Amino acid sequence: MPTKKKKKANINKIQNMYKVKKEDKNNETKKVRLITGNTTGLIRRRLSAFIFIQILSIVHNPVKAIKEVLRIRRLRASVHGNQKILKFVKSEGKYFWSVDYPGLPSENLRKIIKNEFYRNYRTSRKSSSLIPLQTIIWGITNRCMLRCKHCYEWNNIDQQDKLTISQLKEILLKIKQQGIRHIQFSGGEPLIRFNDLIELIRNASSDKIDCWLLTSGFGLTENKAMALKEAGLKGVNISLDHWNKEAHNLFRNNPESYDWVAKSIKNCKNAGIMVSVSLCATCEFVSMENLMQYGALAGKLGAHFIRILEARQVGRFAEQKVLLGKNQIETITKFTLQMNTDPGFKKIPIVTFFGYHQRKLGCLGAGNRYMYIDPNGDFHACPFCRVATGNALSDSFDEGIKNLQNKGCQKFSTIKIYDRITQ
Ligand code: SF4
Repeated sequence: MPTKKKKKANINKIQNMYKVKKEDKNNETKKVRLITGNTTGLIRRRLSAFIFIQILSIVHNPVKAIKEVLRIRRLRASVHGNQKILKFVKSEGKYFWSVDYPGLPSENLRKIIKNEFYRNYRTSRKSSSLIPLQTIIWGITNRCMLRCKHCYEWNNIDQQDKLTISQLKEILLKIKQQGIRHIQFSGGEPLIRFNDLIELIRNASSDKIDCWLLTSGFGLTENKAMALKEAGLKGVNISLDHWNKEAHNLFRNNPESYDWVAKSIKNCKNAGIMVSVSLCATCEFVSMENLMQYGALAGKLGAHFIRILEARQVGRFAEQKVLLGKNQIETITKFTLQMNTDPGFKKIPIVTFFGYHQRKLGCLGAGNRYMYIDPNGDFHACPFCRVATGNALSDSFDEGIKNLQNKGCQKFSTIKIYDRITQ
């Protein structure tokens, strides 16, 4: 017969075992993973079925729904060829293929698919709840500790913020009233305004808006990453402008910048936040060799996505000869397609090159699918096309978006996606 003492020890042992298992489970749900290989076939099929169900719920006719799914497939093929999505990122039980879309399955993805369909389906039957935009990129502070070579916000960087937290909350309320499902918080450096950032993310996430952060990673400690995750942050875009530490630090004008990039990636991953690294591709940088080294470093650091943005003549780069040439655009395009579709590069993060989609489909900014609100509250086509068309505090969103749509993108045409496909 076991003694009372022994019995208690056994109970404690079992309780401890349970505790460990529970912790493991928490760690497991926190993990963000890049998924490649055969599983992606199943996820692709799930995505197609998900799209089909949303369309069927609108047209109530399986034949029509299949036709629409095929139309979407033709559209995709016109951009990507017949290459399949070979990589997904799994986070919180959902599958992501881009930093700009909600995961599968989710209510936000359902809303976006339906919205896209209502916008483009050639019928007089329209939903009364059309969402005007998919995403808002939102600069919430004028302050920044860095002085980057390319800074697009250079003319607005200041020692003081122009807007108070109550004004930012007023803007957030307007964003919610528009039904927008995705916010990318930017700056300046949004981490400088950490408590306000947390408040805004918590407020937006409570309404199930997907929140992402655009940051240099400077000062993104383990505790801050945990607090961001707890507030509801889904993902972070961390600027990394070179595979070479010294070259990155020179570009960011700070000797500690690269180390913070590496630290912040690790901290975000440990907190269960998806990580994308963001490259400002300059004329000096773009070569296949540099891009390959960059991809390898991003994979080694543990990023899940790579975003490539072209240097533009705005902010600190205004008046400078920074625009990429035709060959450089082709090199980035080749790199992007190869990394995403060649099974030999399955350990490299998912690559997004906005210029590729903009040239193939037209620009999705300028009030088409997204717009930018700067740290003063002014509406812009995107962070790089800067002509204010209104202010989020003093003007109506509807008017601001309409004005942006009328002006259009300054660099690429803005077109309706479905117009690319003849019925
Ligand atoms: S680019 Fe971003 S991180 Fe760099 S100085 Fe400008 S606001 Fe700061």
